[in-house]
Amino acid sequence: MSVVSGSIVAQESCDRIPPREAPPKELVEAMKRQYEQDSVGFQLPDKKMLKAVRNDRQQLRRAMVDRLEDRMFIHGTPINALLDSMMDVIVATDPSLTRPRVNLTWLTIPNAVSWGEGTITVFIGLLPHLRSKDELAFVLAHELAHHHQGHTDRDIRAKHERLASGELKEQVKEAMRQTYGRRARLEALLMDVVVDVRKHGRAYESESDSLGLIWLMRTRFDPLGAIGTMEVLDKTDKELDQRPIDLRAAFDHPGVDFSGLMARSQTPISSLAGVDAFDRSREEDLKTHPDCVHRAEDLRIWSGMEGMGEGGPTNEARAAYAGIARKAMRWLVESEFYYEDAGRAVFLALQRLRDEPEDPFWNAAVARGFAMLHKASKEHDLAFVLATPKKTLDPVYAAFLEVVHGLRMSEYAALSEHYLQRARSSGPACEATLFATFWQAHAKGVTNERGVAHDALFAAYPDTRYRELVEELVAPPAKPKR
Ligand SMILES: [Zn+2]
Repeated sequence: MSVVSGSIVAQESCDRIPPREAPPKELVEAMKRQYEQDSVGFQLPDKKMLKAVRNDRQQLRRAMVDRLEDRMFIHGTPINALLDSMMDVIVATDPSLTRPRVNLTWLTIPNAVSWGEGTITVFIGLLPHLRSKDELAFVLAHELAHHHQGHTDRDIRAKHERLASGELKEQVKEAMRQTYGRRARLEALLMDVVVDVRKHGRAYESESDSLGLIWLMRTRFDPLGAIGTMEVLDKTDKELDQRPIDLRAAFDHPGVDFSGLMARSQTPISSLAGVDAFDRSREEDLKTHPDCVHRAEDLRIWSGMEGMGEGGPTNEARAAYAGIARKAMRWLVESEFYYEDAGRAVFLALQRLRDEPEDPFWNAAVARGFAMLHKASKEHDLAFVLATPKKTLDPVYAAFLEVVHGLRMSEYAALSEHYLQRARSSGPACEATLFATFWQAHAKGVTNERGVAHDALFAAYPDTRYRELVEELVAPPAKPKR
């Protein structure tokens, strides 16, 4: 019995990340078929307008097929199945609804989008922020409302109407006559006619919130999830874990001159103050999700839940979602690696290690991140894999970056070694650990060691998701001659 439960634990902590692969052929074909059907019978009285709108719609579809082929989506996982089943439940509440396709993307931004060409995309970066399936259900219901109401189409038509109007031409002429601020005026006019499906106007947001809430109230999902979602979205520009990194626990290991490091990075506040001043009054405009406080108030009124305490989801609801959030967090960290943000991956993994110190995946992620930083600092390319602390970043992350920038080349290597040992002692055969081992040998530049690590990875995981990455690192594409 103990053997069985032991092996289950080992398997769980050895979580593998889904491959970053080309979309299934059937999916691309099904989408192309759907697009063709959507185009049939689309009419507008004005021929010129019809052509312009058709053109924009075509561009939306082409962009989606490009994204698919660029391997930006995750396919065939339990999270895909969950999103699909939830969308089925919501669509079933109203016979007038057509069901959009729901895609899950590797993009790390905390967001969800209805593109307006028949698909909704949930970003992997959003899922760890949510706290219950009810909140996720509201996100889907809200995007379904954008889809159902044809908001993108309405934006496209409004754009062309404005472009065709004499009014805009007059305004452009007027702007050109100005001596000062001409550029800013022209830009403002231009922004007005750009359709950004990620930022619909307030009226559309409000419409989608209310419709989404109506549908949600007809399901078994808790409508309080709608209000909870607003609390979550309001905070997505802050770090999920607001506790500062425990510097001693993270960095005070053999091979690191910890007190020296603290002295070197002693001036985080003053040096941050020197970086581009950040105007807090513009914070609401710069937010990924502005206006959430008002949206939450409206949702309370519509649902008759005015004056009810916040509190967020129940413990049961949180527990039922915890496994999804955890999985999504792993995939998010892997995605940070894919985009070569080693510093960000290390930061997120270190935060998780506080609660799960023995977890092989998080330890391996930190080891791999420091190996990448080691290699980059050797090649004087640190800026490519480690962000610069800026005032626009959450202070928790900015303070971490200050310290990591203060590490020496040998200290990146030592930290990689330390975390790799920890990963090994908790799960030696994990794919993430074997890949981190390979990366470390690669960073050190010891070819034999790298060969051994390479063979160990492929022996244990012949179908490893890292195959392409490994091949690229072993035989980098030839640099163009200068
Ligand atoms: Zn929206």
